[in-house]
Amino acid sequence: MEIDKNKDYEIVVFPNQDEGLKAQQVLITKDTDFKHISTLAVVIPGERRQEICRILLEEDILISGYYKFLYRDYEKDFFNKAKNYKPACPEGEFLKSITLCYVAPCMADEKKIRLIAYFDRDITEILPYLNAVIKGASYNKNAPTLTYTKSRRIINLYNIKVTIAKANDILDAWEVLDEIKDLINKTYQNRENIKPNYEEKIKITALQIYGWLPKTNCRICGEATCLAFAVKFLQGEQKLESCLPLSTDLKFSENKNIMYEMAEALGI
Ligand code: SF4
Repeated sequence: MEIDKNKDYEIVVFPNQDEGLKAQQVLITKDTDFKHISTLAVVIPGERRQEICRILLEEDILISGYYKFLYRDYEKDFFNKAKNYKPACPEGEFLKSITLCYVAPCMADEKKIRLIAYFDRDITEILPYLNAVIKGASYNKNAPTLTYTKSRRIINLYNIKVTIAKANDILDAWEVLDEIKDLINKTYQNRENIKPNYEEKIKITALQIYGWLPKTNCRICGEATCLAFAVKFLQGEQKLESCLPLSTDLKFSENKNIMYEMAEALGI
């Protein structure tokens, strides 16, 4: 399929090479329009997304997600880089693989993507070492999570998964995931020379969350006050969507964007 710059396309992403190759085999067999990006993703016509996803799901193929395909000046480079992408050799490494399980447009910026990927093992023991190595990281030993930013991308490391918000596109996401894997493996190899850091650098308080809420105590969210909502939100017991004024009133749209970014950064 040739890309026509006047039409809408979407990128469909698969969790691993096996699923990606199976999907592309099905699309070829069923004579379906698609453009190969790599074993992990294809571009399809936007108006046929539902139909194509249904064909793939009927064949038991797993899909991590889809998002709008955006033309960029470096489109050619995008395809070349994707074609040459090779995962690092996993032999003898602490972390052997990271599997991409969910991809969607960012809530605060639809031109960026957010994603969830799973590690093949628990990395909890490495988090304090990573906290010592990554400048400006925020470590929460009770969760446990480690949050940091990389050129505006927001990265949250958990025990068995990583979430990334504001990645530029799927290629950017793969590169960042590869860097994370490399960083975890190098930190593990070098852990005897690193003093683990258990310090929690940044704490976001309920009062700070409260500052971004409408502060009307309208109770639509089911809480008695906005502050109670903020406390529950921090504990992961409330969702931003429950605050209707924040979600629907245009005068709070900037606050809403900031809150979503904060939620992504906190992994809530
Ligand atoms: S819905 Fe929003 S504005 Fe109303 S009480 Fe809950 S948090 Fe406050």
